[in-house]
Amino acid sequence: MTDDTELTARERLRIHLREAHRTTDSPIVEAQLNAALDAWNDMPTLLRECPVCGKVGLPERIREHKCE
Ligand SMILES: [Zn+2]
Repeated sequence: MTDDTELTARERLRIHLREAHRTTDSPIVEAQLNAALDAWNDMPTLLRECPVCGKVGLPERIREHKCE
């Protein structure tokens, strides 16, 4: 099972990228957003979110990071 918190962060990110893609008039921005959406698709599915600061990343990185 995946953690609902991770899914929420992933879904929020995709929603914002798609909305920006939908509303931009700039072909340059659109190309950047296409690249960002491709990167989103390539993101590992096992990201963890730090319960303290909300930082999202690979589990081993979250375990070792310093909260800001
Ligand atoms: Zn943290």
